[in-house]
Amino acid sequence: MENTAFISLGSNIENRYDYLVQAIRLLIKYPAIKLVGFSSIYETDPVGYENQDLFLNMVIQVRTELTARELLDICLQIELDLGRKREIKWGPRTIDLDILLYNHENIETESLLVPHPRMLERAFVIIPLLEIDQDVTIPGVVKPVDQYLNQLPDKEGVRIWKQKNGEDVFVPIEN
Ligand code: ADP
Ligand code: MG
Repeated sequence: MENTAFISLGSNIENRYDYLVQAIRLLIKYPAIKLVGFSSIYETDPVGYENQDLFLNMVIQVRTELTARELLDICLQIELDLGRKREIKWGPRTIDLDILLYNHENIETESLLVPHPRMLERAFVIIPLLEIDQDVTIPGVVKPVDQYLNQLPDKEGVRIWKQKNGEDVFVPIEN
């Protein structure tokens, strides 16, 4: 498992928590993908297209034998399996899986851009990413990632999410 990737997950159609958990389960069904880290779950105000419900967001870290392209295809297939429909750009979604980082590589193809081009503008990505790896570095970015956070207008809209019944918010999933 020589490659490391960070993947961001987001959902704003109920049951949001189940969509996150199911997406992770489907990912780690692949023997070539191993879950090595995950953030807390955050509840976040919608960004971009604001007339929609609140999101749950998190970031996971995987190790994998797959190429970034193969990993993307699996992410897109899981989005389809979990009922994702692309109707409104940045609109409501059962699950969104974005590859944030793949090793320290810069990838620019028609279907895949890594590092994810909007990741530094999104507190709902940066906060959980830093929670997993506070020293994370992004290729092409010199400033420490946490310095971007202070400037992000949406950071007040990102809060740790807890289930109302007080149960553990997220139970680690074994590979
Ligand atoms: P967004 O995540 O910005 O809301 P979508 O989830 O609808 O948009 O993604 C649309 C397309 O973005 C995907 O079909 C995929 O080919 C492309 N894409 C480019 N780079 C990435 C990346 N790093 N991670 C995930 N998708 C990506
Ligand atoms: Mg996406």
